[in-house]
Amino acid sequence: MKILFSLLFSLLTFFTSAQPNAAPNIFIITTDGFRWQEVFNGADSILINNPKYVGDTEAIKQLFWDDSKEVRRTLLFPFVWKTFAKHGAIYGNRQIASKVSVSNPYKFSYAGYNELFTGFADPSIIANKKRWNTNTNVLEFLNNTNEYKNKVAAFTSWHLFNYILNKKKNTFHINSGNNTLVTDSSSANQFLINGTQQYVVDTLTPTRNDMLTFLTAKEYLQKHHPKVVYLGFGETDDYAHSGKYDGYLQSANAFDSYIAQLWYLINSDPFYKNNTHIIITTDHGRGKKSTTWVRHDMFTAGSENSWLMLLGPKVANKGEISNNDEMYTSQLAQTIAYLMNTNFTAPQSIEPILHNAFIEIKK
Ligand SMILES: [Zn+2]
Repeated sequence: MKILFSLLFSLLTFFTSAQPNAAPNIFIITTDGFRWQEVFNGADSILINNPKYVGDTEAIKQLFWDDSKEVRRTLLFPFVWKTFAKHGAIYGNRQIASKVSVSNPYKFSYAGYNELFTGFADPSIIANKKRWNTNTNVLEFLNNTNEYKNKVAAFTSWHLFNYILNKKKNTFHINSGNNTLVTDSSSANQFLINGTQQYVVDTLTPTRNDMLTFLTAKEYLQKHHPKVVYLGFGETDDYAHSGKYDGYLQSANAFDSYIAQLWYLINSDPFYKNNTHIIITTDHGRGKKSTTWVRHDMFTAGSENSWLMLLGPKVANKGEISNNDEMYTSQLAQTIAYLMNTNFTAPQSIEPILHNAFIEIKK
């Protein structure tokens, strides 16, 4: 009887302790306005050799140049090409007929992120303005389910995410721009991050330094274990607009290191290990020419070109993908819900990527 009771008890504790972690987790990560050209070819030979765009040609080439594009892209994105590619799938290399595009006609950030999170290109979003987004996004949708209630958190460098994800309407955790992190006043790390942020805040735009966004998110993740995480980085777009190709490459390289650290955090934490998907993408492309790469808009060819990286228990590890039907950013909201074993219907419903069998599901 005693043995039976202790067996029942251990079974009960097993189920009650395992239960909260059973629903899958997801990390959605973006870096703003980063081109597919650099993802798949590494540094561009014309841009890296143009003194107008780099401070020290020789030094930046020692960091990111090689005659082989396979080596070059690995210098820029070591984690992506050495590790992520082995475990996941990478889409968007137009040289081998893999296309990922935004479907909104405007090709700027608010429109791109709206499309990504709400599942459709809203024609009324015509500017990067402080306008409360009325469209339902997949993060709030998940936060309204039993599995993910109060387990959704977003951290972004760009302050406009407060509006894009609608912090006024939504109750999930949104930390954008120079918002400080308030979770545990006794945390030395939090004190340091907030202190550094307050120190630099006056000298910067409302866009937060990416490293501070990363550290803020990491601190929160380790304490609260959210199951749905969005991390939005912004420096790649800022450097491109200011014509600094060296800064653009360096911030992309830092982005790769943040993903690597998150991947390690996921693998070393039993809460996340083997039950977490990672989706990495961007909100728009940029001009393809050596004169237009600094900008992106409806008149600049190449601005609609995106790319997509996926990894997780449901995604087959196919590495770099070739010859896929064109995929759209607007398919991602439904795809995210699908990976979370639920169904999100966008107002103008587009088939999620997985239903189109672009991605092989692991059996
Ligand atoms: Zn931009």
